[in-house]
Amino acid sequence: MQKMQTNSIAAVARTLKEADSILISGHVMPDGDSIGSTIALGLALGKIDKNVAMTSPHQVPDIYKFLPGSNCVQQGMPEGKFDVFVALDCSVPDRLGDELQSLVNDSVTVVNIDHHQSEKPFADVNYIDSNSASTGEIIYDLLKEMNIELDKNIATNLYTAIASDTGSFKYEGTKPTTHHKIADLLQFDVKVAHVSKSIFDEKPIEVFKVLQIALPTLEVSNCGKVAWISFDLMAKDRISAKDEHTEELVDYPRRIKGVEVALFFREISTGSVKVSMRSNYFVDVNKLAARFNGGGHKRAAGCLIDGGISDVREQIVAAAIEAVQRGSLND
Ligand code: AMP
Ligand code: MN
Ligand code: MN
Repeated sequence: MQKMQTNSIAAVARTLKEADSILISGHVMPDGDSIGSTIALGLALGKIDKNVAMTSPHQVPDIYKFLPGSNCVQQGMPEGKFDVFVALDCSVPDRLGDELQSLVNDSVTVVNIDHHQSEKPFADVNYIDSNSASTGEIIYDLLKEMNIELDKNIATNLYTAIASDTGSFKYEGTKPTTHHKIADLLQFDVKVAHVSKSIFDEKPIEVFKVLQIALPTLEVSNCGKVAWISFDLMAKDRISAKDEHTEELVDYPRRIKGVEVALFFREISTGSVKVSMRSNYFVDVNKLAARFNGGGHKRAAGCLIDGGISDVREQIVAAAIEAVQRGSLND
């Protein structure tokens, strides 16, 4: 199929309506938006009798296993052929992981639904709305466009997706339309307290063990505007922590008064470091991450860098301090 340059939710709806079999996936190291959007769309397409498979490049993290339909999400490339492959919450094919990104150059029609800023949409049919705080909100719009009725299970997944990416409606991207959609979803008896407890409040013991090890690594630059925290492989092995247990570590440097850029360095494997970047007021960390082949949003971005953790740290901290200095001048 020819790549369409239009950015049209109607074209996505049409492509899905015309397909019989549809595969859906979110991104590597999935978050609540990725998993919730995958399941919500999968359940909805099942309701209009599509042959749907839901997958994820990595396993569904334990904290999202309470989601209705999470047991239908497989891992990696499923068996069989599909008419359409839908990539969710992925700004570049890399985010689908090694296996699933091979579908992007395959004969299957690829649909991309996302809310990250993207210079060059990669799919055959794209709908990218970088004004949307979450992919979950776009899936809500898509289901309305397709006249698919919501139900409690779909609503619970969409609520989780939206609450996850807005930090429970606290982040900058939260808009009146976000709350209008949430008000509609709540009419389907979403158990808000249960969702909030599951994704924000209750944590497995490993999260606290990670914190015990990671907090002593907290450092702040001389200017006081960049702070970072690290977690290396040795620490990971010591307490057999999974990646999902380290996800919120970046919030500690971010919450220090006066800090503009917070960084979290996580050694993924020997010679490979995942960097999470957050900013509070003015630095565009999407641009900072893009310099290292990563991406994301203005206030939350990430990249994967080859190198030892101390070299990577030195390089990124220097770049962050420079970005803060430049940003302060423009303020
Ligand atoms: P994280 O730090 O993993 O929570 O990610 C923050 C934001 O940056 C999310 O919106 C991700 O989609 C995006 N992001 C993280 N890592 C990458 C990467 N390697 N490439 C592109 N975007 C990324
Ligand atoms: Mn995501
Ligand atoms: Mn998202």
